[in-house]
Amino acid sequence: MAEVRVEALTKTYGAAKALDDVTLAFPDGGFFGLLGPSGSGKTTLLRAIAGFVTPDRGRVLIGGQPVENVAVEDREIGMVFQSYALFPNMTVAENVAFGLEVRRVPQPDRARRVAEALDLVQLGALAARKPHQLSGGQRQRVAMARAIVTRPRVLLLDEPLSALDKALRVEMQVELKRIQREVGITTIFVTHDQEEALVLSDHIGILKDGRLIRHGPPRQVYNDPQDAFTARFLGEANLLSGTPEGQGLRLADGTLIPGLTRPILALRPEHLTLSATTPETPLRLRARLRQKIFAGAMGTCLLDWQGQTIKATGRDADFAALDEGQEVWIGWAPDRMIALAGD
Ligand code: ADP
Ligand code: MG
Repeated sequence: MAEVRVEALTKTYGAAKALDDVTLAFPDGGFFGLLGPSGSGKTTLLRAIAGFVTPDRGRVLIGGQPVENVAVEDREIGMVFQSYALFPNMTVAENVAFGLEVRRVPQPDRARRVAEALDLVQLGALAARKPHQLSGGQRQRVAMARAIVTRPRVLLLDEPLSALDKALRVEMQVELKRIQREVGITTIFVTHDQEEALVLSDHIGILKDGRLIRHGPPRQVYNDPQDAFTARFLGEANLLSGTPEGQGLRLADGTLIPGLTRPILALRPEHLTLSATTPETPLRLRARLRQKIFAGAMGTCLLDWQGQTIKATGRDADFAALDEGQEVWIGWAPDRMIALAGD
């Protein structure tokens, strides 16, 4: 196991800056979720750590040692990609054993380690099957077993679950977390699915246009996103812009929100309460309830306010007394206000 660090990492392809001065530490034994929209540089960052991409500037350190002169196969890294790229004519066990053969691990050590890795991903019973006889989730597990059987110091996972359907993906998320805890390998997990990153990671980082714009524990980044991009990208947020005035923020409808000095107020849909009667708090807005959306136990309300849509989510029962078309009050608690800098 080892900490991974990247320092001032920069990579340009023609006019595109795939990585723009990225400095970041991936904690030893931790599960780091790397998030960002398509094209933000996530894969390039993983490939630079693995050694497939040579950075224009900056460096990669694994376990405190710079690795620019260490070849890909000597970096002790396990990788899993979106397309698992299993060898189709080899059995599950042979696929997993391949990396050990390349490293000339002798029998019976090799067989024992393959069996251990397959047990870990709960595929021991399917060792003799070929990849085409497996489900998508099972193939994903083979890819995981293959990545960890060589006992790498670092595990790089590039959107490994994105080819699976939703139900299977959620199941594999739980599985992935269990496996990572059991083996304790420093793991960097790339996803464009923010919920997946929040579920799995003990640290997250957000890339945008090759730049690292935010990182930290998921709860901290979610609760205090700092900038509008992060607030929108990580969960949902209603963004209300205003004009700072004294110690408050003057919103478009004239409401003065005390205690805010940054130009954007972000409110999570789940932090809003709706009522027909006037709340006592000054933290309130008058809006028209445009649409109630029923989705089982939870519901969503869309409200019109100053030409923008505000979204509120809650238990369906909370919205039972409100009718579409009605004027309602939106309220929230002071500690739910997120103040953001402008773009
Ligand atoms: P992500 O994984 O976040 O979707 P990538 O790291 O794949 O993003 O790509 C980041 C940017 O670098 C994109 O603009 C992409 O088109 C560009 N890029 C990545 N790899 C190459 C390459 N081998 N040649 C040219 N451009 C590339
Ligand atoms: Mg990618």
